[in-house]
Amino acid sequence: MNVSLKKVITQLRENKQYFSTPCYVYSIEDVANNYKKLKGDLGTSLIYSLKANSCLDLILRCGHIFEDGVEIASIGELNLLPRGQVFRYINNPSADKKFLRSAVSSNSVLVVDNLSQLGLIKEVQVKRSINPLVLRLNHSILDKFGVIPGRVRSDHFGLSWGDALAALDICKKNHLTVAGFHIFRGSYSFIKLANITAQAALHITKSFESALGYPIAFVNLGGGIESHWQNQKFEFSRYRSLLSEFPSYIQIAHESGRAIMETAGYFVTKVRYVKWINKTQYGICDGGMAQNFLLAKTEQTFRRLQEPIIVRKGIVVDSGDTANCGYLVGTSCNRDDVIGKVMGKEIEPEDLAIFCNCGAYNASYTLAHFLRLPPAKSYLME
Ligand SMILES: *Cc1c(COP(=O)(O)O)cnc(C)c1O
Repeated sequence: MNVSLKKVITQLRENKQYFSTPCYVYSIEDVANNYKKLKGDLGTSLIYSLKANSCLDLILRCGHIFEDGVEIASIGELNLLPRGQVFRYINNPSADKKFLRSAVSSNSVLVVDNLSQLGLIKEVQVKRSINPLVLRLNHSILDKFGVIPGRVRSDHFGLSWGDALAALDICKKNHLTVAGFHIFRGSYSFIKLANITAQAALHITKSFESALGYPIAFVNLGGGIESHWQNQKFEFSRYRSLLSEFPSYIQIAHESGRAIMETAGYFVTKVRYVKWINKTQYGICDGGMAQNFLLAKTEQTFRRLQEPIIVRKGIVVDSGDTANCGYLVGTSCNRDDVIGKVMGKEIEPEDLAIFCNCGAYNASYTLAHFLRLPPAKSYLME
């Protein structure tokens, strides 16, 4: 059992009166360690992708950890962060003029998704000075420069190569400085695609510089790093030496949400009632998919439910010799509101179920308004 899980259990036992369930518990130390380790492995700047977890208290406490900035995808996220505390990159295909204008006035860097956005930026520029722009490139551009192992899912983000060249031309004519470019090949893509992405990015760097007539300063290679990246077979030292082929005046960055946040968060819900139907035991909890949508695994064709740690009166309940397989269900009256399974033990009312790896997307990807159910609380742990 890892250190922060032990701490969560101790906290729930010793400071019971301060916790109400359902809740998320986040370990600041885990966020800091994940960030530092990942940044060290990559050997580049590391930008935090805020949509993975935008819990305000957590972000405020981690502001100093995210030293290379935060990537923001909505005006809501932009307004969440106090001005001046963390550096921001703004990136969303649908960003409108209002969003772009507030982004500029908060001194953010704009990541341009399409030519229409670039047109709006030209209008904003008349009134204000803006930071050098980053062009987001659609990842299909990379296929021109390397052989892809297998199919990569296509998406609608960023500029096509033709539009990218047009954008460079527009920037030149309108005295908009281009800092560089940004590519993202999707979550979980890193292990498979990082090396060929970097190789292609080297070619793109040259094309950008010759189109612009000046050196670029910034390349964001995306990420798509999974939360347990350290257990994967990937030669980071080889990757870092590939990255050293970029000119030294270029700041190379990666960005990540999941790998920084996932293992730093726990979801805790209390079993309210227990019942049996035929030979199956159900624990009816005070939280479920309305507070943690991802646990219900409705987006997977094969639902592999997580097995939480069960804590009774402060003590972890070990699996015994019973063959019982039970389910934990939530509060939403939805047939799919099954959030976990319990193997080899029976559950009792007042048991706490602690789900690990709930720090990324579990809270932020939950639609909280169904049945007017209460949202989960969030607690921070040093
Ligand atoms: C969502 C997103 C990320 C973060 O993906 P993770 O799998 O959480 O690391 C990074 N970059 C962009 C452009 C994104 O939209």
